[in-house]
Formats: sequence, structure tokens, C-alpha cells
Amino acid sequence: MMIIRVALDIPIDSLFDYIAPDATQQDIGLRVRVPFGKKIMIGIIIALSNDTQVPHDKLKQAEAILRDIPPLPTALMELFEFCNHYYHHPIGMVIMNGLPTRLRSIRPLPQRSIKPSFLFRLTDTGQAIALSCIPGRNKIKQRLLARLKEVDNIGSEEAKRLSPRASRLLQEFLVQGWVEKVLVELEFTLNAPPTLQLTAEQITAVNAIQAEIGTFNTWLLHGATGSGKTEIYLQVTSMLLKQGRQVLILVPEINLTPQLEAIFRSRFPATHLLSLHSKLNPSERISGWLQAQRGEAGIILGTRLAIFTPLSRLGLIIVDEEHDHSFKQQDGLRYSARDIAVFRAKQANIPVILGSATPSLESYYNAMIGRYRRLRLYTRAAKNATLPTIRYINTNAIQLKEGLSEPLLIALENCLTQKQQSMVFINRRGYAPVLLCKSCAWLATCSRCSSRLVIHLTQKSLRCHYCGHKERLPPACPQCGDQDLMPFGHGTQRIEAALAKFFPEARILRVDRDNIRRKEAWQSILAAIHEQRVDILIGTQLLAKGHDFPNLSLVGVLNADASLYSTDFRAEERLFAQLMQVAGRAGRAETAGEVLIQTEFPDHPLYHALRHHDYDAHAQILLKEREITHFPPYSYQALLNAEAPQIDIAMDFLTLAITLIKPTEQIEIFDPVPAQMARLKGLERAHLLIQSHSRKRLQAFLSDWYIKLCKFPNRKVRWTLDVDPIEF
Ligand code: ADP
Ligand code: ZN
Ligand code: ZN
Repeated sequence: MMIIRVALDIPIDSLFDYIAPDATQQDIGLRVRVPFGKKIMIGIIIALSNDTQVPHDKLKQAEAILRDIPPLPTALMELFEFCNHYYHHPIGMVIMNGLPTRLRSIRPLPQRSIKPSFLFRLTDTGQAIALSCIPGRNKIKQRLLARLKEVDNIGSEEAKRLSPRASRLLQEFLVQGWVEKVLVELEFTLNAPPTLQLTAEQITAVNAIQAEIGTFNTWLLHGATGSGKTEIYLQVTSMLLKQGRQVLILVPEINLTPQLEAIFRSRFPATHLLSLHSKLNPSERISGWLQAQRGEAGIILGTRLAIFTPLSRLGLIIVDEEHDHSFKQQDGLRYSARDIAVFRAKQANIPVILGSATPSLESYYNAMIGRYRRLRLYTRAAKNATLPTIRYINTNAIQLKEGLSEPLLIALENCLTQKQQSMVFINRRGYAPVLLCKSCAWLATCSRCSSRLVIHLTQKSLRCHYCGHKERLPPACPQCGDQDLMPFGHGTQRIEAALAKFFPEARILRVDRDNIRRKEAWQSILAAIHEQRVDILIGTQLLAKGHDFPNLSLVGVLNADASLYSTDFRAEERLFAQLMQVAGRAGRAETAGEVLIQTEFPDHPLYHALRHHDYDAHAQILLKEREITHFPPYSYQALLNAEAPQIDIAMDFLTLAITLIKPTEQIEIFDPVPAQMARLKGLERAHLLIQSHSRKRLQAFLSDWYIKLCKFPNRKVRWTLDVDPIEF
């Protein structure tokens, strides 16, 4: 009897056996429709077997093995297995987390999305047609033919970008015999435009990577902001494309994809580039995924989920802004795409480049002890560009006007007269973070979370930034009826209003999560900035990440102090990175940049190091602290999170959970404590921290514990394990 062992998307970490008389070895990695309880589910065939532990009367037959697309490649299955073991998350849920929704659905795949892609290649007949033969009014036809003559062939994606009418014209060309339809080939024609003269530091870095291009190495590309890391990515990518290999590039934010996409597209116009991120619709995602698997795409650019893309000819992984916390998924499978990238590179025996101006302390430490290879870029690449000067404005000594200091206002004024761009950075969206009643001290709080409601004046609402709850701005205090409600503190909207009052002539643009919801919004914002249609930008950390704004010469920073004395041991690391990044947006081209930081603690060591752009000095201070306190990177951590309707239930669960297993040597177990956000979306949360010097021992402990936890009956608690947690 032929048994298939199937992974299903349910929270039980085991495989499920089904009878499948027609199954063969070739079916491993394919989707299968199986009955489960009263439902039909989609699973993935993991193994074949001749026998089973399941009693014969309980054993069911699989409905159908789906052979419409090739099976998941072995390397990808191994990657899922690694995540299953390392993150202690059920195998079926790990796999389904990594697959496009269409593959998780029991509905058949739409034929259109699974067809291999075609290119239209210019024939000799087409080559012989002179551009002048096409009437002048047929502009698009002319452009299309010109493009074909330039690059020899064109994919339907690129044609679509040229014009919406291009695909109809291509059909016309096809009928006339000017082009032929060919399957996308595995070889890429390269026609990169002439590249820049590299700086000495860039040359050293490129040469180092090139010398060992065919083997596994984790390169930490630690380069100051504006030092030209992108150019290094491009150079190394070009090398691999020439060898017919694929390059996977991960970025932390979906908003960073268009900019990088444009850079790579213009450097490698003939290479099929795929952009994979969460804003794609399901059919775009599945078709991209399959193109990657078939090896049709040369460059794959995406956010963290792209790390699970099957890539048959993968030759290099680049993780840009590797320090960014967005690489870690905070629910379900709590994976770090950066860490998986390193595993995947090792598995495929290829290099991985982790790039950042402010590496995570983990990566920095790994480079320090020689586990990663360090490449340093100290100077800015563009001609005459220097790192900006940083000045502090001591807010203890002066009066602020609407949160803004006199020196900052003067500097903004100067920028305006000199027609230069400036940016005010405040990492808090909304109008004000607190609504307060002056007579009874009532505060607007979220009923479902332990958080305050943020005032959004433009929408006249109060909002919870944790659960999304929204309510009307109350006309009077709900507690005492007083109408004198006061907004307290500042957010982007309030600063926008203040700046509009101070500089009525200025063109001001606010950029935060509230005004970039639409897909195209980000593109038009970037265009406005680059075309100098903006004088003053107001932005959150969205603007601080990785963007190249050549005309920006002044950055003002408000409200940075909050993280200086936080209980989160990573808060300072994060603040330092954020400030270096935001400062790094200024003075990237010819104009010298200046950064003004409003602070109550200008003598804090963090600000000292920042003034000198001295990442290393500050990293050394933080590493010393981590060493003394035994925190990562000097130890490895895991968190058992529990959520329940009442905090006692969550705490009791954790107290009991720890008695399930005898503590082993070198494993440190902390007492259960309520989480920093003790209440979220109506549930109370607590956690328990486990720590060890040895990753191996921690993993061995977690494996045993996970099995016991899975068997531990509890109905009111939802628990999860978070390995290498970054949020507490
Ligand atoms: P990073 O990613 O390291 O912050 P970028 O790659 O965005 O820096 O480069 C910053 C600017 O320097 C870009 O405008 C880029 O075009 C320019 N640049 C990069 N390399 C060179 C070079 N070798 N010569 C001149 N300009 C360069
Ligand atoms: Zn009141
Ligand atoms: Zn809430």
C-alpha cells in the first residue's frame, strides 16, 4: 500500500498519512488535496512510505495529487525543514507561510499565471526595417522598434512599462514576421551602460567578493551612508548574471523596492527582474514565484518573504540595510529573513552580502570574531560629498515654539532662501500622542490595548497604533464633561501645521504611513522630492531608510530622547542606527549637509559618538554592556509568549510550563513577566525568557521543551516560541 506523508497548515507539528495508490517518488514536493476532519485541505507531500502508524480504519485516501506545476525543489524543502527545527514551529505552517496564497488554495491554479514566459525577439526581417519607415504619428510603434533594435528582445513586462499599447503592437509585429516568440532563456544578454569610476574602497570590496564568488561567505559590507554600497551590489550582480546565475536582493521596506528596482533595471535592461512583495495581488505573486523557480528571472528583489522563493540558479544573496528589524516577522513563524539568508547561502555554497551603515550588533560581533568577513567603506562615493556636520540644540535651556527651537527654525529659513531641501524627522505619526483633560487628568486610552490613543486631527479621530481601533474625537471629557481637552506632545501632523504657519510660502510634504497607503503614492512622493517640488519634508523612519535624496542639505531631529532611557536593551542600538541613517540622508551630493538634533541630553555618549559619525566607538560601548549583562550577541535567547483573557492565566501557564522540563546545564531561565505591551487587542500578554551562551544547548533545550509544550493541555492560553526575539 502506498502512503504519502503530508504537511498541512494546522498547528500540530507532525505529518499526516494518506493512502495514494498512484503516488511516486517524483511527487515529493507536490501539492495534494486531502480530507481533514470535515474539510478538504491542501497539503505538501513530504515523503512516501509503505507503512503507517495510523490504524487502518482511520486511514483516509488522498483526493488528488496536483501535478500542474513542478514540485517544490529539494533545497526549498530543506530550508523549510531548517525553519521548522530552528524556530520550533509546525512544519505545515512553516511551509504554508512561505508559499504564495494561490498554492495554498484548494482551487485549481489559473492557467494564465503558470504558463512559462515568452520574449519577443527581433528577426532579421525586423532588423531590416528602418525606423524611418514608420510614420511619425506612430510614436509608440517607433519607440518599440527602436527598443528592440537596441536590446534585441523584450519581455511582456517591459513592453507594458513602455506603453499599455505595446503588447498589441507586438502581436502585430509577430504577424508581420518582425519578431518571433521565444521561451525565456537561461542565458542573459548583458548590456550594462558604462559604469562609474569606482572609489578605492569600492574596488577593494568588489575584488574581495569577486575572488571568492563561487563559495559560501558572509560578507558584512559596513559602509557609511552614501559610500556607494549600491554600486558594489551592481558590480557583483553583473558578475553573477554573466555566469547565468540568479541574484536575490532583500530590502526591509516595500517602499525601498521602486528606487532599487529602477537602479537595477537601468543597469541591466535585458535581464528579467522580478519584484516580490506583499502588495502584489495573488496572481502576480504566483506567476512571479514560478518565473523565479523556472530560472526565468535573473534578479529577484523583494521584502522578507522573498527569502522563500525557489531559485534554481541562485548565485548570490544581498540583504540591504541588514540591521533593519523589518526582516524579522513578528507573528506566526517568527523568522529572521537575514538569518535565513545566511543559512540559504551556506546551503547553496554561495556568497551573501549583508549591507549597512549601521550593522546590527549581532552581525558586527560576528565580523569581529571572524565568523563574517568585514568590508569597510568610510568615505562618501559621490564627488565632493562629505558626511554632514551634526549639532545639538539643548532644549533644557530654551523655549520651544510648537515643539521647534529657534536655531532649527533659522536653519530651515536659510535653506528656504538658498532653495535647498530640508527634512524634519519625528518618528511619530498623527497630530499628538496624548489627549488630556485639563480639569480631571483623564487620558484617552485604548480599551483593547495598554496604549494611549493618538490624535489624528486631519481625520478628527483618535486611533490606536497597535490594534487599529478608531473613534471620533470626543467633544468633551467623557469623565467630567469639561470641554477643555488638550493635545499633548507632537506628531508629524502637528509639526506640519506648525511649519505651515511659520513658513507660509514653503512647499511642505509630510511622509508617514498615513499618506502612503495607496500603491502609487510613494512613487509620486519620490518624484516630487527628486524634482525639487518640495522644500521641507516631514517624515518618520520611513524616510530615514536607505533613500538617496541628493538635494537634501538639512535634517532636523525632534523627540529622539525617548529611547535613551528605555527598558528595552536594544533601544539605544536602534536609536543610534536610526539617527545615523537619518543624518545620512543629508549632504549626499555637492551641497554640504547639516543635522540639528533637539535634545535634553546633549552630553549622552550616544550623541558624542554620533557627532563624529563613529559607529565603532558606540558599538564598542554597547558591546561592553551586553557582555557584562550577558545579553546578545554574547548569549542566545528565546521567548515563550503567552496570551490569555486574564493576566493570571497567562502567568500561571508560564509558571507551569517551566516545570515541564528539568533545567539543563548552561540554560538560564528567567521568571515570567508581563510583556511591555501588557495588553494587546483585548488579550493580556506575558512571557518568559530563556538564555544560553551556547546556541546548540539552547536549541537542544527548546526541542525537548517544545515537544512537552505541545502535549501540555491548556485551553485558554495561546502560546508561541520566539527564537532570537527582538521585541519583548
Ligand atoms: P549607500 O547605499 O552606501 O548609502 P549609495 O549607493 O546610495 O550609497 O550611493 C550614494 C551616491 O553616490 C549615489 O548617488 C551614487 O550614485 C553615488 N556613487 C556611488 N559610487 C560612486 C562612484 N564610484 N563615483 C561617484 N559617485 C558614486
Ligand atoms: Zn475631565
Ligand atoms: Zn488598541
